[in-house]
Amino acid sequence: MNYDYSLRGKCKKMSEEAVAADPSLRLVRGYYYCWEWGKQAHWWTVKEDGTIHDPTAAQFPSLGEGVYEEFDGWCECSECGLRIHEDDGIIGGNGNYIFCSGNCYGRFVGVY
Ligand SMILES: [Zn+2]
Repeated sequence: MNYDYSLRGKCKKMSEEAVAADPSLRLVRGYYYCWEWGKQAHWWTVKEDGTIHDPTAAQFPSLGEGVYEEFDGWCECSECGLRIHEDDGIIGGNGNYIFCSGNCYGRFVGVY
């Protein structure tokens, strides 16, 4: 497998296509830890036996040999550190931050 920059940004689309072609695959969202680029938001698929099938692994210089970490939807409030589910939080800062409450959001941006 050779590094292929043209795959960059296509991980969600190509993973969805892989699942459409082979319904035994499970679509996974999470983070990939590339030793060149560090933590990357990423999509891939997992086979029934638990092995990773990543259609766009070649977009990373580490070619999919880094660490895959599934995102389970749980985050920490960017202000107070409370563990919250993303569906319950308030997203701020162009999606870079999440808050447990309006109070925390306000404190973070300096309104209160
Ligand atoms: Zn909070």
